[in-house]
Parts: sequence; structure tokens; C-alpha cells
Amino acid sequence: DLYAPFRRNSQGLDFADRKALQTLAAEMNRSKTHIPWQGGPLCCGQLRTDGGQGVYAPSDRGREIGRMTWTREEDLETALAAADRSWVAWDERPPAQRAAILDQVADLLEQHRAALMALCVEEAGKTLRDAQAEVREAVDFCRYYAAQVRTQFVQPLTLPGVTGERNTLTLGGRGLFLCISPWNAPLAIFVGQVAAALAAGNGVIAKPAEQTSLVAIRATQLMHQAGVPVDVLHCLPGRGEDIGPRLVADPRIVGVAFTGATETARLIQRGLAARDHGPLIPLIAETGGVNVMVVDATALHEQVVMDILHSAFFSAGQRCSALRVLCVQDTVAEPLLDMLKGAMDTLVVGDPHWLSTDVGPVINDRALAALQAHDEEMRRKDRVLHRAPLSGGCERGSFMVPSLYRLERLDELPGEVFGPMLHLLPWRTGELDRLIRQINASGYGLTLGIHSRIDAVVHRLTRQVRVGNTYVNRDMVGAMVGSQPFGGEGLSGTGFKAGGPHYLLRFATERVLTVNT
Ligand code: GLU
Repeated sequence: DLYAPFRRNSQGLDFADRKALQTLAAEMNRSKTHIPWQGGPLCCGQLRTDGGQGVYAPSDRGREIGRMTWTREEDLETALAAADRSWVAWDERPPAQRAAILDQVADLLEQHRAALMALCVEEAGKTLRDAQAEVREAVDFCRYYAAQVRTQFVQPLTLPGVTGERNTLTLGGRGLFLCISPWNAPLAIFVGQVAAALAAGNGVIAKPAEQTSLVAIRATQLMHQAGVPVDVLHCLPGRGEDIGPRLVADPRIVGVAFTGATETARLIQRGLAARDHGPLIPLIAETGGVNVMVVDATALHEQVVMDILHSAFFSAGQRCSALRVLCVQDTVAEPLLDMLKGAMDTLVVGDPHWLSTDVGPVINDRALAALQAHDEEMRRKDRVLHRAPLSGGCERGSFMVPSLYRLERLDELPGEVFGPMLHLLPWRTGELDRLIRQINASGYGLTLGIHSRIDAVVHRLTRQVRVGNTYVNRDMVGAMVGSQPFGGEGLSGTGFKAGGPHYLLRFATERVLTVNT
């Protein structure tokens, strides 16, 4: 059954279990003996490295953790030609075989959890908790899509027909997919996109974010080890500007899955539209958000404050689902703000290698500079309400202080501010409808948080705010595969939702066979 609940989410580690933590630490340390990790284009199972360029840890810019060789035209051509030749055989395999391989990928990812976590911490600056969440989500995507293959692809759907006619509908691969993944979920989204495209029977050219290609290459190797043919899946690290347009223009690519900035999705869409030959192809995009949490006077302050910290500041605010604008009913804004400031003071911002760290670095100095420019603008307007303290050692990395600002209007925000920066916008009692109009007017539609114990308020907001994922009386990040299919609408993406029952359909083609018997 397509909608049967999926109850096999990856268990992960218990961070309260000292022994498990010691083993994890030992394994993570062992995996670091490979530093500098060597990365490069992985075409037909061959990793090409030629010394390459240094890759530096976001938590300490002076520390080289790897060397990356970028993809060249010859690599692109080798990968495209091989995948174009071999995807049909992959598509023609019994779907249950593809599902079994994805389950095997999940098992391997779990077996290599420590090494993958180490890469997420070193290369992406993830905290240990976020790094473990990356592995778990990647595992969940593989198992979930494997389960979906079994329910949707194995058995053709029999449809009614006039007497003597038999109608069946089957799902299969479309051809060669280009999967472009972001650095903020360097393992989870990378694996999620690739697993979905493979599950449906496609070949894949994966182009991971250039900031986090090492972990993507490692994940690709594990996929090959699990049985994904090396000619069917290739990983091509490179700067988006350099290889993106070339790949988007190639007529052998018949579908694109992209997660990242809204402007980049538009560029890709333009690139696809500009093709004057080759098939007409879909773009599956999951992009940014200007996500709001609406809090009314009935909310429980202690809980709201915890949920705000998680939603706005953890993961250094580098989730597309993260909370950006906190809209509090004016009658409770002051006490809530006091409590929030106190809670911000307890945040541990610093080295992501420590279990006690809540907030690690942002991805690089360029991202930091953009956040600092926004901060400067807020400072110039005298809007800074509070800042969290920074731990020692942060000067060596790309750290942004979690900060709270005051807004006067929602449309003052320039768009998505992708970091640990939260904006407070109180709303006046009786003006909820006006707030709803403002939220919808942003054009984004990714996540919404609601804290209220009045059913009518919750109902009005959930009915009228147009977003993909709404969370009531909890935090608003960390969607669970199979339970909270994730993705937005409007400027936030095309759908369908990752980790949901309809996602694979976007990667598949439908064929109907009518036989007159
Ligand atoms: N799926 C993630 C979440 O629910 C966000 C993914 C992203 O940041 O791109 O928090």
C-alpha cells in the first residue's frame, strides 16, 4: 500500500551511552588517519586525483583536511557516455533487485557511520548531533525509496477496460538524471536524490556542492560497493558555474533534481528551456524559504523557547527549513523575549568536534561575509536585540554569532538569510489575518511553525498559510523520512516531497499497455 506507514527509521546512536560514544570517537579518529582525504571525479568507478586543491575545515580555516581534483571535460564526457549506454540495463532489472541494492546501501552507510560523520564534521562543520542526523536521514531515504519501489514498481497496476481489453500501467526510469545537491545536507540530500533517481530505474550524474564533495564521493563509493553498477552512477565534483551549464545543456540528461538556492533553480530552469533539441524535461527543485513561527498568547513559553533555539540556531541556521522570523503576539512578546535572550546566552557556539557544542561554524568565509553584511545592515538600523556568546577558538573558523534582530515589517527581509539569525516581528492582537497575508506575500512556502493552544487559531493558520510543512507546538526542522515528507511550494520548490510516497513518481515515466485479448 502506497500510504502504509514506514516504520524503519534508522535508530542512530544514543548520545547518553558513554561506551557507544567512546567507540564512535575511536572510529572517527581512525578515519581521520586518511587526512588529507583525496577527492576527485568518480567516473565509472575510477577516482581521478591529480593533487588538486586544498579543502579546509570550516571550523579551522588553517587546517587542510583534503585535496580535491575538479572535474574536467573528459571526465564529463566519459561519465555521460557510460551512463547513457548503461541505464537501460539498470532500468530493465527486476525492480525488487534495485530495492535490495538500496537496502544494502543503507546497511553500508550505517556500517560506515563513524567515517561519514567524521567527514560531515570536518568538511561541512556539522556538530556531532547533526552529523549523525545526516547519516540517519541518508539511511532512511534509501530504505524508504526501496520500500516504495516494492509497492509501486514491482507490480504493474491493472486498470479497468472494456470487455476483452486488458490495461496495465507500469512505472520505469526516464533515462539519465542530473542530481545537484547542497552543502547544508551534504550526505542526506545527496544520497536522497541519487537513491530516488536510481530507485526509479535511471542512470545518475551526481554533482555535489563543491564545498562538500569529499563526503559525496565517499557515499558514491559505498553505493557502488552495495551493487549500483559503476557505469550507472557517477559523481562529478566541480563548481556549479563551471560544470552546471554544460550538464544542463546536454541532451543526454533527461531530468534534473536540484536542492539549493531559488535563483540557481531559476538558472537551471532557464538552461533547460533554452535547449533547442532533445527531450522536454522536468525540474525537481527544493529551494529556500523565509520561514515564520507564529506564537500566540496561549503558547507555553519554556517550550517555545527551546523550539526556537532548535529551529533558528542549531545547525547554525543552515537548513532551508530553519526559522527566520518569529511572530509573537504583542501581549506576550516581552516576557518571551526575556526568556529567549537568557536561553541564547546558554548556547555553546564553537568547535563542532565537542559533543557539548550546539552551534558550529557556517560553511565558509563567503557565507560568513554575506551574513555579516546583513548584520551590518541590521546594526545600522539599530535592530540588534541580542547575541549569543562565542567560545574561544572561534576566530580560526567561519563562525557567525547567533543573533536576534527586530523587524518592523516582514518584507524588510531581503529574502532567505541562511545562518543563525533570527528576526522578531510582534503582531497585534486582532491582526492575525494581516500577518497571514504578509507571510503569503513573501512568495516562499516551505515551513511554518505555530505555537498556540487555541484550535481556531491553529486551524486558521494551517488553512490559510501556503507552505509545504507546518509544525504545531514543536520545533520546525528535521523532517523525518516517511513521517514528514518534506518540500515547499511557490519560491520554495516544485514538489513532490522528498521522503514521501509521491517523490519517486517525479523520477519515473508511466507506460500504459492496452491489449485486446
Ligand atoms: N529536510 C530538512 C529539515 O526538515 C531540511 C533540508 C534542507 O535544509 O535543505 O530540516
